[in-house]
Formats: sequence, structure tokens, C-alpha cells
Amino acid sequence: MEGKADSRRQTGTKEKGPLAQLMDYAGSHKSLTLLGCALSGISAAVGILTYLFVWVVARGVFRAMPSLEGVGSLARYGWYALGAAVVSSAIYFAGLMCTHLAAFRTATNMRKRAAAHLLEVPPGFFNANLSGSLRKQIDDNASLTETLLAHNLPDAVGGIVTPVCGVILLFLFDWRMGLTCLIPMLVSFTFLMTMMGGMNATEEEIEARRKKGKIKAMDFYNDYQRSGERMSAEATEYVRGIPVVKVFQQTVHSFKGFQDAIEQNSSLAAKYSLMCAQPYTWFTVVLNSSFLFLLPVGMIILSGAANGWEKLADLVFYIFFAPQLAFMMDRIMYVSNAFMDANEATFKLKQILKEAPLPVGKGTPLPQDAAHDIVFRNVTFSYEEGTHPALKGVSLTIPAGTTCALVGPSGGGKTTLARFIPRFFDVQEGSVTIGGVDVRNLSEKVLMDQIAFVFQDAKLFKKSIRQNIAAAKEGATEEEILAAAHAAQCDDIIAKVPGGLDAVIGTKGVYLSGGEVQRIALARAILKDAPIVILDEASAFADPENEALIQKGFEALMKDKTVLMIAHRLSTVRNADRIFVLSDGRLEEAGTHAELMEQNGLYARMWADYEKAAAWKIGGAA
Ligand code: ADP
Repeated sequence: MEGKADSRRQTGTKEKGPLAQLMDYAGSHKSLTLLGCALSGISAAVGILTYLFVWVVARGVFRAMPSLEGVGSLARYGWYALGAAVVSSAIYFAGLMCTHLAAFRTATNMRKRAAAHLLEVPPGFFNANLSGSLRKQIDDNASLTETLLAHNLPDAVGGIVTPVCGVILLFLFDWRMGLTCLIPMLVSFTFLMTMMGGMNATEEEIEARRKKGKIKAMDFYNDYQRSGERMSAEATEYVRGIPVVKVFQQTVHSFKGFQDAIEQNSSLAAKYSLMCAQPYTWFTVVLNSSFLFLLPVGMIILSGAANGWEKLADLVFYIFFAPQLAFMMDRIMYVSNAFMDANEATFKLKQILKEAPLPVGKGTPLPQDAAHDIVFRNVTFSYEEGTHPALKGVSLTIPAGTTCALVGPSGGGKTTLARFIPRFFDVQEGSVTIGGVDVRNLSEKVLMDQIAFVFQDAKLFKKSIRQNIAAAKEGATEEEILAAAHAAQCDDIIAKVPGGLDAVIGTKGVYLSGGEVQRIALARAILKDAPIVILDEASAFADPENEALIQKGFEALMKDKTVLMIAHRLSTVRNADRIFVLSDGRLEEAGTHAELMEQNGLYARMWADYEKAAAWKIGGAA
């Protein structure tokens, strides 16, 4: 079955269905799914034996009427019926065990495949895709497929086997009654199709239907699903914005987008429900109305039959058996819903897997005899979502052993430029070399060994402070860890938290301020002792005391290294060996502080503004 049609559906060629894709993920557990489905089918077939034994008993009783002589011997068939029901349930249970095992394995494989792929994509991918939402996509989508594989699929097999056996039994008993029994099923199936109408449509077909005003129920359902996604995105935005609403004394109505999304969702839900109300009512009524058909047909057959008692037994069989058909039909309806969910799940996961991995470097070694200058040549880059290039033909050199700073207005391209060195992204034009070797040709290990990167918003693992610092160097000794912590001014943190170095971040009593987190991240970078340091200086510090400590930590980190500092404030760049001024993706100016002041250009203007602001602050404080 092809899945739900939405705006992201590929036009033209149809892709593998969700089930085939899930089977790819199932790997060796595919056979377990098949076994589980087969067992479910066998269980359905054995289940029918129960009705057969009831029929045998009914026939025996009717034959023995009115004296009922010898009916005691029929008791064993009652036991057989019970036995068949028990065996059928046991086989069904075994089948479910198989499908559950396979479903869990498939979901795990999906998670593993996505997680493994995420290790290969450029780190920059995580800037645009928040880790929380990625986790949700991977986890939730894998879970969505579990119901289909564990329950709905084996139930569907049972749902098919039962009516098929029913058709075979038609010829065994009375074909007229059998056929009467199937009529409500077939009629209800057409109502089911009305509700599922349009599920196989391509994007063009949906558009054509919309233009003609002949919208099908499934189109509503798809719109409804999308509006649900929009509503949840708007809800997140709303929760994030609550502090702003409170501070600025706004009302909830200022979140027009959220309100619109809720109203749209509720209107679509109402439309979809109304559209399905009639077919669903008919589906349920007709499906459960086999008595209405069976009784009159049965009476007509009985009235003209020579072997009336036996025909009465047949009628009893079908009266018992018909609701079973209805029950199975209901199960099939749930399968189609599960297919839509599975289709959505495989689609979203595929979006993650489509993200191109970072090409692997050739493994060129770094020259031992030459200085490891970092050279940007004619670098141009646009973000996928960006409306204009983030960098346009930037060329600059960071000589080995110097401290260089990137400054300029916000959005000028400083962060983007620095991220090419550790290959968060690859340049689209131009090149970035270290010691004359293009970073794209270095192996990941060699490149990463060269670089320590301190982010603005440092992240710590929910592990001990010791493990957080030691993550930078395999086999780091206690002395090395303590020395790095000391150099990064972490002594007071270690003394303060219960457990010291062994305190686990985020547990009771171990809550660190932004500045403290930054200092532990600095200790990690110091321990790495890499020759190149990229420092994305935080644009705002929590408090002056922390700022002074962090500056001291920076100095320890930068000692004897090649440093590229992304300076969001000018106070720290004055002593840099070279300052590069980036504005609107272009290199505007370059030189020392004194040289740039002399040029009297953008940097000089920024410096004047900075001094004015500093004077205002001092004046204000006085
Ligand atoms: P700076 O560090 O100087 O403030 P950035 O390098 O962060 O500047 O940004 C340069 C330009 O690229 C800006 O126009 C910014 O909006 C854009 N940009 C940065 N990150 C992304 C991203 N992940 N997706 C799209 N555009 C981005």
C-alpha cells in the first residue's frame, strides 16, 4: 500500500512502500516478522475450528430432538471447541512474540542507522537541526512503526485468512448462507474505501482534485496531520515566548500563529469527522448486521429444506461465525491507519539519511618541516537556507604561533569562517589549508588532533567533572586533569561542589552557572593541548568575576598556540597579532590594532563606538 500523500511526496515515480522499507530495516529479523504473520494466519484458521465444533454439536442436538437421546456423547466436541480456542490463542501469542521481537529490532535498527549516519554528517548540520528535535524525529518515528509490525501486520494476515476460510466453508455448508454472510462485509468494505479514498494519490492528483473541488477524505486527513505538526511547532514557540508575554504584559492573543493553528486544526478535524460520519456509521451498521440478512435467508432455506435440522445447524454456525468476520474487518481498518503512520515515519527518517555525509579526507599527512599556517583562499559559502552568501571570496592567513582575531558587525561571517577549519562545513569555493594541506584532504583524526575549539555555549556531558575534562585526552592522568582544571581556573568549582572532580553535572547540588560551565570546557580544551585553538568568545558573560577567571583560562589555553579568536566584543582583541574585520561576508580590513586605527575605517569606527559605550558605562556606574 502506498502511503499518505503530502506536499513532500515525490512526484512522478513511486517509491518503495513503507512495508518494504521497514523490511530493509528489519534485516535478519525479516523472517521473524514473516513467521509471526504466518502464525497469526494459522491461529485464525485454527480459531475457525471452534465454530466447526459448535456446528457439530448443534447438528447432533438438532438431530436428536425431541428426545435428545445420546447427546451426552457430543460433549467431547465441546472440549474440542475449547481446545481449538486455546490452541488458536497460544499460536497467536507465539506469533505476537515473533512480531514483537522483530518490531523492536526493526525500530532499534532504524535508530541505529540514523544515529550512525549522524556521526558522518558535517557537524554544522547540528546548528540548523536542534539535537532535541532530531532525537524526537528518530525516536518517535521508530516507535511509530512498532505498532504496525508488532500488532497490525499479523492481525491483517488473520483478517485475510478468516474470510478466505469463510469462503471455503461456503462450499462445505450452505453456499447461500455463506454468501449472505459475506454481503455485509463486501458492502462495508466499500464504505471503508470511501473513508480511505485518495490515499494512493500523487501530488498532481491531489492538486487536480482540489481544483475541481472534489476533495477526498484522505486529503483532509493529510491536511489535518500537517496542521497538527504546525500546531505543535507553534505551541513550542508559545511556551518559549511566555516570559516575553509576561514581561511585556501582552495577552495570549499576541500569539496569533498559535491561535490560528489551533483553529485550523479544529476546523479540519471537524470537517474530516463530518466527512467520515456517514460512511463510518454505515460501515459499522452494515458490518454488524449479518443477522438481518442471515435470518430471513436462513428461514427461506429452512422452509424448503428436506433436512431442516441440519440446515438449522448450518444457520447456527453462520450466526456464530459472522461476528468473527466483522471483528477481523475492523482489524483491517486499523492496519490502514498504521500504514499511514509507518509511511510518515520512514519518510522522516529518510530525510535524515539523505543528509550527505562529510567526504572522507585522503589522509595526506601534515608536513613536519613547514610551519602550520592556516590559509583561507577565496572562500565563498552560502547556507542552504540563507538568502545571501555568508562569505564572499575571503582570503586571509593566520601565521603559525600567532593570535589572530575576527571582528566585525554581527552576521558578518566570523563564526562561519572559523567553522571551516574543523570542517563543520566544507567551503563551496576556494580552500582552507593547514601547513599547505587542504583540510578536506586530512584524515579526520589528524585534523581533530590539531584543533581545540571552544564554543560560545559550551556543552558538558551529564557525567562527572573528571570525565568531562578527560574526554579531551585518552588515558589522561590525574595530575594532567588537575593541572588543566587549575589552569582553567576551576579550583573553586571543584572545591565547592559535593564530590569535587567526581561530582556528576546536573545531579543534586551540582548546578553550574554559564561561566562555570565555560571554565570546565576550557579545562577540557587545555588538556587537549592542540596546536590550533579556535575560540568563539561568548558575547555576554554572567558576571565580571567569572569574566576575569575565564580570561585567565583563555590565556592559559592560548599560550604558544596558533589562535583564531572570534571576538564579539573589542575589549579582548587589542593585543592580537593580527585583526581581520569581516563585514557582510567580505574581508574589509586587516592589520594590528594600531594599523587599523590609522586606516580610520570600519575598525576605527567600531573602536570609537566601543570606547564611547565603555565611557558611558563607567559614567553611568559613577
Ligand atoms: P557572525 O559570527 O559574524 O555574527 P555568522 O557567521 O554567524 O556571523 O553569520 C553569517 C551569515 O550567515 C549571517 O547572515 C547569518 O544570518 C547566516 N547564517 C549563520 N548561520 C546560519 C545557518 N545555520 N543557516 C542559515 N544562515 C546562517
